[in-house]
Amino acid sequence: MTEQSNHNLFALIADRMADPKRPFMEIEGSDTITYGQVLEQSARYANALADLGVTAGDRVVAQTPKSPQAVMLYLGCLRAGAVYLPLNTGYTPAEIEYFLNDAKPKVAVCASGARPVFAELMDKLPGGVVETLDGDGSGTMAQKADAAAPEAPIAQRQDDDLAGLLYTSGTTGRAKGAMLSHRNLASNAMALAEVWRFGPDDKLIHALPIFHTHGLFVAINVTLLAGGTLLFLPAFDAEAILRLLPGATCMMGVPTFYSRLLAQPGLNKAAVAHMRLFISGSAPLSPETHKEFQDRTGQAILERYGMTETGMITSNPYDGKRIPGTVGFPLPDVSVRICDRDTGAVLEGEAVGMIEVRGPNVFGGYWQMPEKTKAEFRDDGFFKTGDLGFVDKEGYLRIVGRDKDLIISGGFNVYPAEVEAALDAIAGVKESAVIGLPHRDFGEGVTAVVAADPAAALNEAAIRDQLGHDLARYKLPKRVMFVEALPRNAMGKIEKKALRDRYATIFEDE
Ligand code: AMP
Repeated sequence: MTEQSNHNLFALIADRMADPKRPFMEIEGSDTITYGQVLEQSARYANALADLGVTAGDRVVAQTPKSPQAVMLYLGCLRAGAVYLPLNTGYTPAEIEYFLNDAKPKVAVCASGARPVFAELMDKLPGGVVETLDGDGSGTMAQKADAAAPEAPIAQRQDDDLAGLLYTSGTTGRAKGAMLSHRNLASNAMALAEVWRFGPDDKLIHALPIFHTHGLFVAINVTLLAGGTLLFLPAFDAEAILRLLPGATCMMGVPTFYSRLLAQPGLNKAAVAHMRLFISGSAPLSPETHKEFQDRTGQAILERYGMTETGMITSNPYDGKRIPGTVGFPLPDVSVRICDRDTGAVLEGEAVGMIEVRGPNVFGGYWQMPEKTKAEFRDDGFFKTGDLGFVDKEGYLRIVGRDKDLIISGGFNVYPAEVEAALDAIAGVKESAVIGLPHRDFGEGVTAVVAADPAAALNEAAIRDQLGHDLARYKLPKRVMFVEALPRNAMGKIEKKALRDRYATIFEDE
């Protein structure tokens, strides 16, 4: 590769693009999008954004259903030097309001049904524009792109210029925007393409959402840099995946994908004969699922570990043992260490401590939160992941828990503090605790434990109903347990472990 003078990730993608006739995206029952069309379409979106007043560094919010055009919008943003800010399609108006006020985007692109909500909020921002993009690829944004010219320059960007702003919820319930630079994304995608041996003949089943680092940056950037093909599905669909497997080489999924695929009788060695790699991440893959998958298909799922703020950090090896219950070794140029969470002292041997990471993949900080950023980094540049773990005798990283009590349900992060705040706001709720409990399908099931005033006559349905106004569906407790009072320790802290133990089996039959 030649030395890049433009550090825009899209310049790297364009530089590596070999044959414009090769397919970038295949959509079942629909068109194929070639690499040549990626160049044209991304230019059209970049031009349409420029016409709307977007200049380098401006944020572009996208709460768009998954579609090939939504991917082109992302690439158009890169190309224009704008900062792409994807939002979970499940976010409610109250949540969206926070993101828009915090990030102050120039343009927001949403599904046509959400236009009134976005229009009202964007009206309050200087020069804020709303465009639409629906799941079928139609909408005012697509129209503007279609009408725009198919050539555009690639905006000149430096390594540290922002390419993406991805929000992650905090323990306080306030979401934080992780600032990801062109270098963060480029270095991580190159490292992954190398260690996972991605090449032009790869066909990757893409059934993940594209508003999260996994389906967006890992799957899409790696495939683009390798010149491979995405077999693009609008959402997870076990039957569709079984149909695609004979023509595919790789899949990336959250653990829930794998447990759901195992429920398909058609999943067997013959069905995966063409596949070279199954990758899992975003939440712990249970060793049982790993083993069951290997017994049924002969394939050892490769588990990797990462987070929004850092991209991917470690991976089980491509060659060599993929050990269930571990997340493998640091990626090239990435340093991982285990530290005492309070003193920061580096721990040796198999001691459990805070997993800390440093490297070109690690984000620059939280959007307009210098204090929070400072608190999450050590002086020597290591970022505290908030995950607890240790390195075993063979050098594999093992994650044992989450320092911040994060719940991961179906691959989505749910921060108890945010749900607790919403619960406590309900009339009649005296106190609440939100915990994650083992759930076969979702990994963890969000569970609320509530002490309520008997006079309020609250029940599970009423509580879920009220929470539904403010919280995305995936954050809603699947069960609400009522207690007289929450267990607390001598320091007055709620004993969540005792609650987890007490209700450990409530999802056993689901
Ligand atoms: P997110 O920022 O949504 O990608 O969530 C990041 C968090 O997901 C990490 O801090 C971990 O707690 C968790 N995570 C990601 N991958 C794994 C994995 N393979 N095993 C266990 N936890 C994981």
